[in-house]
Amino acid sequence: MQLKILSLPGDGIGPEVTAEAEKVLECVATRFGHHLELTRGHIGGAALKAEGTPLSAATKRAASAADAVLLGAVGMPEYDRNAPAERPEKGLLDLRKELAVYANLRPVKAYPSLVGASPLKADRIEGTDLLIVRELTGGLYFGTPRGIDGKHAFNTMAYTADEIERVARIAFELARSRRGKVTSVDKANVLETSQLWRQVVTEVARDYPGVELEHLLVDNAAMQLVLAPRRFDVLLTENMFGDILSDEAAVLAGSIGVLASASVGARREDGKLPGLYEPIHGSAPAIADKGVANPIGAVGSVALMLEWSFGLRDEARAIDAAVSRWLDDGPLTADLGGTASTSQAGDALCAWIRTAHRTPS
Ligand code: NAD
Repeated sequence: MQLKILSLPGDGIGPEVTAEAEKVLECVATRFGHHLELTRGHIGGAALKAEGTPLSAATKRAASAADAVLLGAVGMPEYDRNAPAERPEKGLLDLRKELAVYANLRPVKAYPSLVGASPLKADRIEGTDLLIVRELTGGLYFGTPRGIDGKHAFNTMAYTADEIERVARIAFELARSRRGKVTSVDKANVLETSQLWRQVVTEVARDYPGVELEHLLVDNAAMQLVLAPRRFDVLLTENMFGDILSDEAAVLAGSIGVLASASVGARREDGKLPGLYEPIHGSAPAIADKGVANPIGAVGSVALMLEWSFGLRDEARAIDAAVSRWLDDGPLTADLGGTASTSQAGDALCAWIRTAHRTPS
């Protein structure tokens, strides 16, 4: 298969972890006989430096022309005082809009070898395997009017039924291939947007009779995530609630460095599912350029890309198996108590992938 991928390493540790993700992608392509067409571009602070804007028109075009986009991270303290239009994060928000990726998918697993690395008690988190589906292009982060008027500031939280329905369908589809449960999180006791959210999600659920639906208020969901994370299979929620809950859920995995994410939209006419794949962590300025960052979040994002944008399950499984083996046998990076460099971790993953077998389908 032809894999046309745009890589946007971005800022801080972004280039370091993306280099390992690209290395793994090349190993998988060689091992399984695919043709990798990898191009690179700038985003965030790196793009501000190189092109004077957090996301250039040329990079937007390249992203739209690619089958999938791999991203590192954006943001550095030196840009914190920039005007909103010239902040690195603007590049990421523009890219999500450009690709029309309205659903952010974040799998969270408590790997057995990492259970001790979480600040939560092992018996609470063992067996956790959940998927957060977060609406990504609506709600409070995009709603207008918004602004600051002297001592009065305002934002708008708005949703249409269509925006809710399309992301809900993704959650129910994914639940069908998992354990068959969707927990929809809202604040329907206070917010009108949540009342519409609950109504639409309930209607969508009728089309998926094999999937159980429960509704949970967001404050309770925040508590349940740390009290009883095993109760969740697919957690569906709107943009801001999802932003907060997905970082909370990251604690269940032991290290923010191991978590991957995918952002997807509608399938194109040619059947392809364009997507943006990135580790959930940021640019980690304090450890940037030291070669110590954990690359597993970026590498896991490549596995999600191969599975969801290209339908290559064996290839994704080969990466997942290599990651599990790395977590068991190392050599681990500093965030997990080891001394391995970012590239040593990538080399170990590649060595295992080279010996991976196709599973009978
Ligand atoms: P962060 O995720 O960069 O770092 C949080 C903590 O986790 C730090 O202690 C960091 O050293 C550690 N960490 C993160 N990734 C790691 C990895 N792969 N290996 C080992 N340790 C890792 O979050 P932050 O410090 O709040 O933000 C730093 C910058 O990143 C800010 O400019 C922020 O806006 C930006 N940011 C970007 C994204 C993104 O690009 N999607 C997401 C979050 C934050």
